[in-house]
Amino acid sequence: MYNVKDNLKEVLESLPGGVRLVAISKYHPKEYIMAAYEEGQRIFGESHEQELRQKVEELPKDIEWHFIGHLQTNKVKYIAPYIDMVEAVDSLKLLKEIDKQAAKHERVIRVLFELHIAEESTKYGLTLESCRELLAGDEWRQLKHVQICGLMMMASFTDDKEQIASEFQTAQDFFDEVKTTYFADDEAFCERSWGMSDDYSIALRHGTTMVRIGTRIFGPRVY
Ligand SMILES: *Cc1c(COP(=O)(O)O)cnc(C)c1O
Repeated sequence: MYNVKDNLKEVLESLPGGVRLVAISKYHPKEYIMAAYEEGQRIFGESHEQELRQKVEELPKDIEWHFIGHLQTNKVKYIAPYIDMVEAVDSLKLLKEIDKQAAKHERVIRVLFELHIAEESTKYGLTLESCRELLAGDEWRQLKHVQICGLMMMASFTDDKEQIASEFQTAQDFFDEVKTTYFADDEAFCERSWGMSDDYSIALRHGTTMVRIGTRIFGPRVY
């Protein structure tokens, strides 16, 4: 098996206090997840509904699952019974559907808004402007079964470290803006989910509270 335990330890040792690790286990077998679990890791992230469902059934119940991929509204009902956090909410429509399905299960699901800051046109997420518009509207305030906990984003896929740093900083500045404007009194709104295997060391200097790391722990994914 790929050296999951040692890799995990190395990653954890490189994180300052206050930054949590979401171990991204998509496409990796449950044995890999168990190896990390045995080392104490409890937060895992997946991006496909069916794969996640199977893992949830077979793995320990005290794992906190984050949905990190693009979530279609028609899939929300499947993950609503158990998902702890949906990290990539990119529309009011999706937010309302999560609220509706969470209500059916008498749950509150934690969510992050996904920002589109990177240059690639393929990346999902809300532009800063559309996120501002969403929050300026009042509808989200009526939703009692979602808790908006912060922001998530992916930096551009590039070797240009300055560009990556500037994208993380844009996200951090936007977090501060939204926090002061809408969530000043809401302690739950505190998460900044940015930083992946290749760029999390940069993210650590730009306000991240949650890094999402897959490859560096579990090795290359086999698709
Ligand atoms: C796959 C994925 C990750 C992890 O990427 P690595 O480069 O393997 O660390 C993080 N965030 C999202 C949204 C992903 O889809």
